[in-house]
Amino acid sequence: MKTLLCSICLTNYPLVCNNCQEKIDSGEISELDVKVIRVLMNLEKSFPSLKDITFVRALQANGLIVVLVSRGDSRRLRPALRKIQRLAREELNSDIRVVEESRNPQHILRDLIRPVRILGINTIWLPDNSFERKVRISSRDQSRIPLDISRLEEIVYELSGEHIRISFD
Ligand SMILES: [Zn+2]
Repeated sequence: MKTLLCSICLTNYPLVCNNCQEKIDSGEISELDVKVIRVLMNLEKSFPSLKDITFVRALQANGLIVVLVSRGDSRRLRPALRKIQRLAREELNSDIRVVEESRNPQHILRDLIRPVRILGINTIWLPDNSFERKVRISSRDQSRIPLDISRLEEIVYELSGEHIRISFD
């Protein structure tokens, strides 16, 4: 796995080189990042596809850890993704979701709620000429979604910069 932390520090952590210490001090790498990186690194032996992915950062949201990876990486992990997420959850004591970096709110949401599918998206224009995207999900899937809906909407906004509204049909 490619990360901002060098491979030597990944092994020796909490001993870190000056270079990596600077990244930690500046907030470029957070404690949570290090924790998640180390868990995923340990899974590389069982899941070699993890070696090819780029870890961007991790963030915590109401009992869920979102692991941001580079574009194309969630496809690389796909066959093993659910197993990886399950094993990482045991180590981290928190549900985790691997999400590809994207400015597209639909892509972010798709990764967050996988394997639940998005039925469709409507754009709603507001009186002030701004718009909102309404994402439709089948009401049968509501119970399979790991987070409460307003939290999901917030995470999507945080990651994509766009507001969405989730509705169940
Ligand atoms: Zn280092």
